Amino acid sequence: MPEHAKSARHGRKLEEWKRNAGIGGQYPGDDDDDDVGEDGGIKEEVEQFMDQMSAGQTQITARTPKPPNANRHDPTAQFEIYVSKDTFKFNASHFVAFPGFRERLHGHNYRVSVRLVGSRKVGGDGYVLDFGCVKEAVKTVCMGLNEYFLVPMLSDVLAITCSDVSVTIVTEDGCNFVFPREDCILLPIVHSTAEELAVYLYGKILSQLDAKYMRQRGVTEMAVTVSEGAGQDATFRREIPKTGEGSLDVAAYVSKGTIPVMPCATDTESAGKRQKTSGSEMTFGV
Ligand code: ZN
Repeated sequence: MPEHAKSARHGRKLEEWKRNAGIGGQYPGDDDDDDVGEDGGIKEEVEQFMDQMSAGQTQITARTPKPPNANRHDPTAQFEIYVSKDTFKFNASHFVAFPGFRERLHGHNYRVSVRLVGSRKVGGDGYVLDFGCVKEAVKTVCMGLNEYFLVPMLSDVLAITCSDVSVTIVTEDGCNFVFPREDCILLPIVHSTAEELAVYLYGKILSQLDAKYMRQRGVTEMAVTVSEGAGQDATFRREIPKTGEGSLDVAAYVSKGTIPVMPCATDTESAGKRQKTSGSEMTFGV
């Protein structure tokens, strides 16, 4: 065979071999494997192929592309668990109050759920965090609020006086509420809104689950959702603190500014805007 024809045939064979071997591309996720060169060992194999062709061998074996290594670090992966159980609930009464406004006393069947963002791998036991741990923690925290009147002790509009037997609340519009002390839960919050309850519960759940332990397991973020009713949820999301701190300063998450309240706030179903005219007194079982 003339040399030029032989050369053309070698060229076609080489192209065919390169197509079969996947030359020019990369194996999925094989960008930093160190058992082959930067070109995936292709250069070496091409040289071998050329030697084979020179020796008159025509049988060509294409290299089988390597599958992605399952143990490799996958930067696109992320584990997350979401826990929402029937036991994550509490019934409580409250009213929201801020300058110029307060709601009428009313109650909710609150529900709570928790979302934990893990790392790119689960623990050696296969868990981000055992559901059982989360269930126990949230259930315990919810029980602590069940069937109480929620007292926002940091309120800027309520005058709150506590004794051994009662809690007296004087509102901005001059109403007096007197509750049995044992029927109240005194909370370090400014308003008893779902949002601030979510922050408060975040701290309580964090204490139960142990921030340091969660960090060790690769859990980086937790979100706590408090629902006042169907389709009425507030979520507080925050990084798991590295220092292992527990409760959060809820007031630090409340703006001090004078952003006006939306006009619709005074028209909500449970709202009863009161004027500072005639005061009234409400006593509950004291
Ligand atoms: Zn309410």
